[in-house]
Amino acid sequence: MDPRDNAAVTVFLCARCSVALTPDLAALPTVPDAPDEADRDPKTRRLPSTVPLGHYAVEPDPWGAPYIPQDDQNPEPCQPRGNLMVIDDAFVISAGPRNTVVIHPDDAPALQPLPNWENSSGCCGPTGQHGPNRACPCGNQLATLAADCYTPYELHLDPVRVHPVEGWPGT
Ligand SMILES: [Zn+2]
Ligand SMILES: [Zn+2]
Repeated sequence: MDPRDNAAVTVFLCARCSVALTPDLAALPTVPDAPDEADRDPKTRRLPSTVPLGHYAVEPDPWGAPYIPQDDQNPEPCQPRGNLMVIDDAFVISAGPRNTVVIHPDDAPALQPLPNWENSSGCCGPTGQHGPNRACPCGNQLATLAADCYTPYELHLDPVRVHPVEGWPGT
C-alpha cells in the first residue's frame, strides 16, 4: 500500500496556466518558528528554510507588502517571524494577504525572478518586503521570496494566484 494513501498531499498549480509549480507537499498544522539565528549560513547569510522540503504551511496572518503604520507605536515585528520595520518614521505592520502558502524555496524550482529583478531588492538576497518577486513561466506573479541576511528563508505563494489540488498517489 502506498504510504501516502492516508496522508493528504497537495500540489500547487498556477491559477492562470495550470502548470504544476510544486511536487506533492504535506501540510504542516502551523508555520514553524524561524530557525535560530546561529544556524544562518556563514556564506549565503541565509537561515535554513522555515518550512522543510516536501511540506507547506498556511500563514494565517497578513504577510508582505503593503505595510501600514502600527496603531500603537510600542512596536511589534512587521509580520510573523519578521523584524521591526520603520517607514517614514513610523513602525509599520503588514497589511498584505492572509493565508499565504509558505514552502521551501527549492520546492518551486520553475519560478523565475521578475523582469529587471522587480521587487527583489535586498542586501544579500531579496527581503520579500516589496511585493511579489517570483513568477510562473507564464508570467503570473504569484510568489514572494524572502532570502536576505536578516530575514527568514521562505517562499510565500499568493493564495489567490495559485490553485491547490490533491496529490496523486504514485506520482
Ligand atoms: Zn502560469
Ligand atoms: Zn546582507
